[in-house]
Amino acid sequence: MDELNYLDLHIPKLGEITQIDTGIFWLRMPLPFQLDHINLWLLEDEVAGERGWTVVDTGISNSRTKLLWLNFLRTHKDRLPILKIICTHMHPDHFGLAHWLCNGLDSGLWKVPVLMTCEEYDMAKLLSDGENQKVCTGTLPGDPNENVISTKTIDFFKSHGCNLKESKKKLFERSVFYSSMVRNIPETFTSIKSNSKLTIGGYNWSIILSSGHSPRHASLYCKSKQILISGDMILPKITSHVGVFPSSSDNNPLKNHLSALVKFKRLPPDTLVLPSHGQPFGGSEVSGLHRRLIQIESHHQERLDKILVSCENPKSVSDLLPIIFKRKLDSHNYTFAFTELLAHLNYYLWKGYLKKVVQNKIIKFIKYRGIS
Ligand SMILES: [Zn+2]
Repeated sequence: MDELNYLDLHIPKLGEITQIDTGIFWLRMPLPFQLDHINLWLLEDEVAGERGWTVVDTGISNSRTKLLWLNFLRTHKDRLPILKIICTHMHPDHFGLAHWLCNGLDSGLWKVPVLMTCEEYDMAKLLSDGENQKVCTGTLPGDPNENVISTKTIDFFKSHGCNLKESKKKLFERSVFYSSMVRNIPETFTSIKSNSKLTIGGYNWSIILSSGHSPRHASLYCKSKQILISGDMILPKITSHVGVFPSSSDNNPLKNHLSALVKFKRLPPDTLVLPSHGQPFGGSEVSGLHRRLIQIESHHQERLDKILVSCENPKSVSDLLPIIFKRKLDSHNYTFAFTELLAHLNYYLWKGYLKKVVQNKIIKFIKYRGIS
């Protein structure tokens, strides 16, 4: 029981909508993971006298999602066209179909701008090239039967104690990759910044930027409606993935993530939160946004506490995985858990609570003696 106040709303079926507020609609699309859906938001808008939709996030690029979009747009053709697309960040479930949607479903019906932060667009551009992806994310593009893991990625997992004999299969099995879920990216984009103010359907929306989960994630807040489109930053049931990857293995993304959460504490406690996964919640001073922020912070603190206790003796990331993640990890979640665990270790390393030792070429972490 997470003690949050969920809106008493019909959860839309995949490819269908539920109205949230005047001019705000909730559209659900499928994902081929354990996390099986993403919430997209459609906002009624008007640009240069033309009425239509502003779409927030797109779903991944696959035939199932495209078909659901086509059916949806056919059913609601009186509300078309799409006028602009806003992507909270570059992850495939949010950005995968941006190219297709902004180019009028590849049929020239409309050509509209995609709004996102510069950092997100640049990372998407980098990762949509599979060769770069091998090094940057630790994910493994290509045919699972081919030996396509980059040397840097192999070294990264090996140096943290990953037994490649056991884990290589898991790594290879990871069959969903960035460049396969984001087949094209828009040729151009309109950059949004922290001080950007967007007017959508006559309402002003401000931008709240965050790093940690992705390079520069944008959440949208409408003060007059007290509605937050939180993207992946604030989710009701799960926490956003915050990971350290082979390209930047000394990074401290958890510090950025926790700092970003503080920004959301400045919003009214009864703000209504529209998250990318799970159900809308909030609208309540005690069981809404602020409660969830406390829960997320506690989650990370508990994990950090557990790590510190476990590191009385030197432990590698692989040693810690079964201690911190009790559940069985599938191929997809294995990489997530591995990189997330390292993000927590690096956080305490940077704070001076842990130090690194190398034993038999494996990086291990041990509690710094000065910490009681
Ligand atoms: Zn994300």
